[in-house]
Amino acid sequence: MAPAGEHLVYALPLRTRFRGITVREGVLCKGPVGWGDFCPFWDYDAQEALPWWRAAVEAAYRGWPAPVRDSVPVNCTVPAVDPDRARAITAAPHGCTTAKVKVAEPGQTLADDVARVEAVRDALGAGGRVRVDANGAWDVDTAVTALHALDRAGGGLEYAEQPCATVDELAAVRRRVDVRIAADESIRRADDPYLVAAREAADVAVLKVAPLGGVAACLEIAERIGMPVVVSSALESSVGLAAGVALAAALPDLPYACGLGTASMFGHDVTSNALLAVGGAVPVGRVVPDAQALALAAADPPTVRRWNDRLDAVSVLDRPSQGRHA
Ligand SMILES: [Mg+2]
Repeated sequence: MAPAGEHLVYALPLRTRFRGITVREGVLCKGPVGWGDFCPFWDYDAQEALPWWRAAVEAAYRGWPAPVRDSVPVNCTVPAVDPDRARAITAAPHGCTTAKVKVAEPGQTLADDVARVEAVRDALGAGGRVRVDANGAWDVDTAVTALHALDRAGGGLEYAEQPCATVDELAAVRRRVDVRIAADESIRRADDPYLVAAREAADVAVLKVAPLGGVAACLEIAERIGMPVVVSSALESSVGLAAGVALAAALPDLPYACGLGTASMFGHDVTSNALLAVGGAVPVGRVVPDAQALALAAADPPTVRRWNDRLDAVSVLDRPSQGRHA
């Protein structure tokens, strides 16, 4: 489908560098049923950006299944910051009792990760839950050593997300540690999202709406993958986050807090009603950008041109019969 209808390029500042970026860019697309958010990271080529486009088209033109809950519990996200900053992020007034801590940052040590996890554990207090995300950075032996230490530091980790890069490595780590293993990149950047299940490489599936091609595509994976699902964001604006919330709201079972509280990582958003966690949860429903927030979020002309070129490159790849998980 061509990028018909109104679309707006946005640029949102991040409070802390994340995934190597300090500004999050994307395009808001308006269709008959609402707004979609197209925001693949810049290291994704047109082919890998295609599911992101399909998710935006779904949001704007088709809509989402009916929710079975009206709010979704979320975790707070602690980037690879020092312990004081980690404590402050965890104790901020979002009410989250689950924290996801980034670990294995290049240039940092296991001692840095342990100190960060201890600080978060401390700030959460009794009843809090800590999960870590290594974004595939460790080899198997390093992961086993690190997870033993971090499990102790976190008072029993809820799970460890993508400790290693490959499915076989995840399976090997899973056999050697007591910590539950969650697969993220091994699902959303894999040719076969079901391989982790076939290899018994994970206990939890992390699903992200945009890289997996939309809410309906993710619901199908959730149904077939045979493990509990955690819905996480791809650091979308609140418009894009609403699609993740719609997926989480439509799942029959939601045993874990979702990674959808990431709007707090922006200095400002595309709406004055950003999807910020209150009492540890975000509300279910469409998010509509507003003029005041958009004025602040508007991208400069070179950025607009780059995104328009990207939209053209991605939308010409799209054919309804080529659905990746169809
Ligand atoms: Mg992850």
